Amino acid sequence: MGLQHGEQARDKIQHNLNVYFRRFKNETLLSREQVLERAARYLEVIQKTSPRYAQSMKGVAEASKTTQLEITALNVRYELMYSQFSKIGLKPVTKTDGCTAFAALPTAAKNKHMIMGQNWDWIPEVKGLFLKMRNQQSPDVLCFTEAGVVGGKIGLNSEGLGLLINGIVSSKDDWSRLKKPFHVRCWEALSSRTLSRATGVITDGERSCSANFVLGQQRSEEKGKVLDIESAPGATCQLEPSGGAIAHTNHFSNPSLLGVDQVLDDERISTLHRYERIQRLLDKKVRGSQNLDTRLAQSMLRDHDGNPESICRHANPRFPEDERYETVVSVVMDLYTRTLWATMGHPCEQEYQALKL
Ligand SMILES: [Zn+2]
Repeated sequence: MGLQHGEQARDKIQHNLNVYFRRFKNETLLSREQVLERAARYLEVIQKTSPRYAQSMKGVAEASKTTQLEITALNVRYELMYSQFSKIGLKPVTKTDGCTAFAALPTAAKNKHMIMGQNWDWIPEVKGLFLKMRNQQSPDVLCFTEAGVVGGKIGLNSEGLGLLINGIVSSKDDWSRLKKPFHVRCWEALSSRTLSRATGVITDGERSCSANFVLGQQRSEEKGKVLDIESAPGATCQLEPSGGAIAHTNHFSNPSLLGVDQVLDDERISTLHRYERIQRLLDKKVRGSQNLDTRLAQSMLRDHDGNPESICRHANPRFPEDERYETVVSVVMDLYTRTLWATMGHPCEQEYQALKL
């Protein structure tokens, strides 16, 4: 799988390496040598905790004609960037993968299928792709990832399990804890047969950095389960749906429960607004209505209330060019039919394309 990923996405991987090494230098004040030195330490962690992931990274490096340490740096860019944001203190510390995610139980949907949806807001120059993975010993997976990153972060598997993610930054995030990285956990969660196994992947042990995960599963008609896990380095917190639906953006609901301080500056306005707005849309259109379908989910992700810091997020000219986050990919999933609809770029400017596992 790594070899195919590396070969088919070679140009995009080279492009992403250029983008991230430039950003490591400009925004997190890490030289190329420092990045590769930290990547080497994480490569050891991944080889030990998830050998198949390490093997897949090796394949990506070989086929894309890059080095294993460069590919490792891409795969742990979350740990390298996020903890640095909370450390350098010189610049705004809130550059998270901004995202708006929601999920609803089958009882809220017209066809009684579980629907999950998310806009992934990040820097628009990063190249993404969808992976369809056929596994021999674990469920097949359909997911979105950044070219060169083995572990997809938004997706579903053949057991009807789905994953959405939100970046969050806390005061305790620190790359040097050298714990199993975020993208490896996403990959293992998406390879899980059951919701409890996927939950364990996220909550077991400690983490280097904080993140939020929305997990859902529907295996049989009308029955489904969804939950949200906020994770900080030393603790996690599980949130349950209310009125059959749940949503999350880029802040902790109760950081003191997790023993951390919330790190929010420039991101504050955006994440709080998007959270209130998605909850309002769920209240108005989904909770108690049994009206949800994929079209309605798509229209919620095209919402412009509060533009440009809206659910469909556009570049905010108030910030320097390198700090403008926009919706890079938009995804709606039907877990029961294992179908995913996506737009690369703003969903307000194009039709969703269906991908089937
Ligand atoms: Zn838009």
